[in-house]
Amino acid sequence: MATIFTKIINGEIPCYKVAEDDRFFAFLDINPLVKGHTLVVPKQEIDYIFDLDDETLGAMQVFAKSVALAIQKAVPCKRIGQAVMGMEVPHAHIHLIPINKESDMIISNPKLKLSAEEFQTIAHDIQQAWNK
Ligand code: AMP
Repeated sequence: MATIFTKIINGEIPCYKVAEDDRFFAFLDINPLVKGHTLVVPKQEIDYIFDLDDETLGAMQVFAKSVALAIQKAVPCKRIGQAVMGMEVPHAHIHLIPINKESDMIISNPKLKLSAEEFQTIAHDIQQAWNK
């Protein structure tokens, strides 16, 4: 059965997309730790990120870098933190999290409740920055 992220990539479930190429896809996390919290996923459906072959993992990291640079332009922050967990969704993904302090990365922090308009604006701003 397709994972929820494959359904997002295929457009069967809506998302706030920020970037896409032929192999990778990036969209806003629906339960963000901070504004701009983004997930990067390979279109190849594989559960554990460290089961990806070296070439795909390297290309995914380069794609994630391009998204991180776009987030940094669109969302004021000191750095973009990166995390890999995969405890919830069995489809490899990288979390990109705009941070101003270490504690912004604590995954058990309360999640933000954003309106659809706020998600749309953030996604639009990151997408614009990524396209430049
Ligand atoms: P983990 O698998 O532990 O790395 O966490 C999965 C992440 O996916 C969580 O931060 C969720 O909020 C996020 N997530 C789950 N479903 C969706 C969805 N439909 N759209 C966007 N983000 C999602």
